[in-house]
Amino acid sequence: MGQLSEGKLDEIIAAGCASCGGRRLLFRALLDGRLPLLAGEPVGALTWVYDGEKFVDGVFEITCAACKNSLFRADDCPRCNAANGLARALEERNRWPVPTACPSCGGEEVRYVGFVPAQVAYEGTRSEKPRSTIELLDPGFHGFRVDCIDCGTVAEQRDRCPLCDAPGPLRERPG
Ligand SMILES: [Zn+2]
Ligand SMILES: [Zn+2]
Ligand SMILES: [Zn+2]
Repeated sequence: MGQLSEGKLDEIIAAGCASCGGRRLLFRALLDGRLPLLAGEPVGALTWVYDGEKFVDGVFEITCAACKNSLFRADDCPRCNAANGLARALEERNRWPVPTACPSCGGEEVRYVGFVPAQVAYEGTRSEKPRSTIELLDPGFHGFRVDCIDCGTVAEQRDRCPLCDAPGPLRERPG
């Protein structure tokens, strides 16, 4: 499990902001995004591919949208829980190779799945679409899986933490 459990998340949402009573909360999280690549270059928009459990697992900060009061903050790595790993995840660039072709069939069209820092606004039970300005070569984007349209998953980073580079083995993710 990550830093935030679903139970704790429900408590934070139910309580709202203790300072101003605000109900609109801003979440910052590292979320699974999928980029279409052609010969190693992005050729389309990022698609979000996480589910509810993976979303909770990736949250590292919750603040009140109105008064900016901090309701939750975890500095450990959201993926492997290494102490103070969050800073490395957000400040460093992708360390995992970006393939120019599928290693199995040689096709140049693959999908590159990675963690992407994003902000999600949440009010009551409704969450808005994640917002992110982070692109493939920006600090914070960390690839961990390559999917080929024909061959399925053809590569996955399991040896080291994709976010903070701590050695594996990695815990299983929920969802
Ligand atoms: Zn507030
Ligand atoms: Zn880590
Ligand atoms: Zn392939």
